[in-house]
Amino acid sequence: MKAIRRFTVRAVLPENLSALEEIAANLRWSWHEPTRELFARISPDLWQQVRHDPIALLGAVEPSRLQELAGDQGYVDWANHIRDDLRSYLGEPRWYQSLGSDAPQTIAYFSPEFGIAATLPQYSGGLGILAGDHLKAASDLGVPLVAAGLFYRSGYFSQAISPDGWQLESYPVLDPDGLPLSVLRNPDGSPVQISLALPDGVLHARVWQAAVGRVTLLLLDTDIPDNEERLRSVTDRLYGGGGEHRLLQELLLGVGGVRAVKAWTELTGAPPAEVFHTNEGHAGFLGLERISDLIGEGLTFDQALQVVRAGTVFTTHTPVPAGIDRFDRALVQRYFSTSLLPGVSADEVLPLGAEDYPGGSPDVFNMAVMGLRLGQHANGVSQLHGDVSRHMFNGLYPGFDPQEVPIDSVTNGVHAPTWTDPMLRALALERLGTEDTTHADWGNASAVTDLDLWGVRNRMREQLVQDARRRLEAAWAEQNPGGISPAWMDDLLDPNVLTIGFARRVPTYKRLTLMLHDPDRLRRILTDPERPVQFVIAGKSHPADDEGKRLIQKLVQFASENDIRQRMVFLPDYDIGMAQLLYPGTDVWLNNPLRPLEACGTSGMKAALNGALNLSILDGWWNEFYDGENGWAIPSADAAGDGAERDALEAEAMYDLIEHQIAPRFYDRDADGVPAAWVARIRHTLATLSSPLSAERMVREYVERLYLPAAGYESRLTTDDYAGARSLADWKTRVKAAWPGVAVAHVDAGGLDAVPQVGDELHVRALVQLNGLSPDDVEVQVVYGRSQEGDELVDVHRQALTVDTSVPGTHDASVAHEFVGTVRLAWAGSFGYTVRVVPVNPYLLTPAELGLVTTAS
Ligand SMILES: *Cc1c(COP(=O)(O)O)cnc(C)c1O
Repeated sequence: MKAIRRFTVRAVLPENLSALEEIAANLRWSWHEPTRELFARISPDLWQQVRHDPIALLGAVEPSRLQELAGDQGYVDWANHIRDDLRSYLGEPRWYQSLGSDAPQTIAYFSPEFGIAATLPQYSGGLGILAGDHLKAASDLGVPLVAAGLFYRSGYFSQAISPDGWQLESYPVLDPDGLPLSVLRNPDGSPVQISLALPDGVLHARVWQAAVGRVTLLLLDTDIPDNEERLRSVTDRLYGGGGEHRLLQELLLGVGGVRAVKAWTELTGAPPAEVFHTNEGHAGFLGLERISDLIGEGLTFDQALQVVRAGTVFTTHTPVPAGIDRFDRALVQRYFSTSLLPGVSADEVLPLGAEDYPGGSPDVFNMAVMGLRLGQHANGVSQLHGDVSRHMFNGLYPGFDPQEVPIDSVTNGVHAPTWTDPMLRALALERLGTEDTTHADWGNASAVTDLDLWGVRNRMREQLVQDARRRLEAAWAEQNPGGISPAWMDDLLDPNVLTIGFARRVPTYKRLTLMLHDPDRLRRILTDPERPVQFVIAGKSHPADDEGKRLIQKLVQFASENDIRQRMVFLPDYDIGMAQLLYPGTDVWLNNPLRPLEACGTSGMKAALNGALNLSILDGWWNEFYDGENGWAIPSADAAGDGAERDALEAEAMYDLIEHQIAPRFYDRDADGVPAAWVARIRHTLATLSSPLSAERMVREYVERLYLPAAGYESRLTTDDYAGARSLADWKTRVKAAWPGVAVAHVDAGGLDAVPQVGDELHVRALVQLNGLSPDDVEVQVVYGRSQEGDELVDVHRQALTVDTSVPGTHDASVAHEFVGTVRLAWAGSFGYTVRVVPVNPYLLTPAELGLVTTAS
């Protein structure tokens, strides 16, 4: 019998254990090991069963056990101590509090998904986990972040694998009452309600709040009686429906999210948010809600746009065009032709997402393009991805080189306390005096010996093997109710065998099945009598992606063959809980995407934080961190003729590395059974990567390189009743209108001998028509570099020319202006130059921002 409805009854705790309730209500328990130990002590078995969920534990534990603990003064003191520790964590000054008063006092962070703990499955993969790690690190650093997202009734989906290897999805409905969430309420106790005027009815949402350490996460939920039936399902699933459903979710996330943040700041007395950060373009509509607010304060659309741009940070996450949300333009038009955003008309919205560049589609509204137009501060998520993004969006900045496209990069990081195995943290604490593994002195081989490191690595592998067996037994039991599992399942995997891990979502570019390229060779690798290798694999395919499901099937079928089934397993239902044991338990973390389609990739970072070595294509983060000692690089066959050849070459290279480099080193043991050369790499990995791969490093970078500048730019535009915004909007209008008439009329150069030598000076003089603009509105630059075939410049340098006031007539705007300057020839060989004009203004971050440039022809 299935229940039609389900709810959770919270336990009544004995009074002297009330601290447990306070502690369970803050998700800090998800990364704070001492808190987890406190809960585990209540009932270690139950703690396992409820998958480390304090609220479920308190709901399930026998009242008599609670009574017993209430009588145990030692336990009561321990609980109170943890509660006091939580309170001081929440209140004490941390890193951010040392930054001074210019630092923004509230930063709003938007994301369509948040992966914080296995018990709050509001994520599908990397983007969500990153958002969760961002909040946790922000909390640790004291960054005053408030986050906005959606509460999906069924989260993403839960994965099972059919006997013939096909992915089966199910959508267990979550009960918010059983989660660490509370309703955001007005002072009179009524729930705060967010409403959006849609073309045929009003969409209402309630707001759940989750405490992630010091950070509040607001999640909007449309499954409330006030909504018409069809609107209740807007937040049913993460990435569930297509077109219109998705648009509704994104309107709610962006517009509704800003409204929720405003309600929250007003209710809590927190200062209004100054900086808005959108994690990928899905939340991009947030800028429109802010524009609407500013119009309400008397600004025009263009003036408001300047303010919003200045204070908005847009992080792009995908170099795959299919990963970008693109809506039917007509649909967007329909939704903005309502009173959804007072003062903002559809005609003003549509150009923001228009693909009005070569190759763009006129019928499409592109969320990433809008992200760049509404956010002055943009970044990719690794150095390589920054570069790829600058190329990808170059069309928005015609005439500029890709290097000039205003997209920076901040390489992702991962939250070390969440992702470092407690055994490794305990080792650091015991031997290095700190459980902060990202700052521990791993190089100190007398404090932490090779044997220590190897011992802990062995235990983590053992733990993974046990967990994998448990999961596969459970999956088997699910499919064969009442049956007895076959004996070979009892010794699936081997705790002493070199273990390669591979887990990720399954879009084609990640090439889940590359390892199957030469099945016989893989078989030999797995079953090598002296140096066997085992693979632990996991991953979910998007429910609508049958191609991805076929890849999973291919892998599962291969892995079920008799001779290898104990060496290769596919674990169903990849999630945070599995990942926390998987990364530490693997010796080698494999990643073989098609370069450069992996924007960053974070699973390999999590593996590295646990001393696993990476074996990866030089893509994403690995491209900037691989140093020859911390793992292995699979060379990418960029020059291959076609995809198949490329796969073949890269797969062969991967097999070669496993056979000739990895396995021999792993099995080369000293008298103590320790693989010294391997452990040296583990030590090197921990010592050099833990800190730069941490989310703490990442969030500091966001603060210093993006949030602080964004707050500064925005505040300069808003002071004196938005004087800056008004003048910037006027200036842009003026510059855009005049630009078609701006021209480099003539360029002269002199000063060189017949045979120029290094050190000689080139005197450049350019005659420029400014069409009514003043010389202060522009910068005239000589652009020079090595000149190549086709006159393409490389190693480009730019130098500003100055107005030559000695020439009569220069100040008469109807006449062309003379600009002059000198370039020193700094290298021998080919030299080329040109002259160009770009708009400049102190409120612009870079001259490329307006996409206006005029070059000498
Ligand atoms: C880290 C993580 C991911 C993302 O890993 P990538 O390497 O970016 O693909 C996905 N799912 C889970 C559960 C994770 O922990």
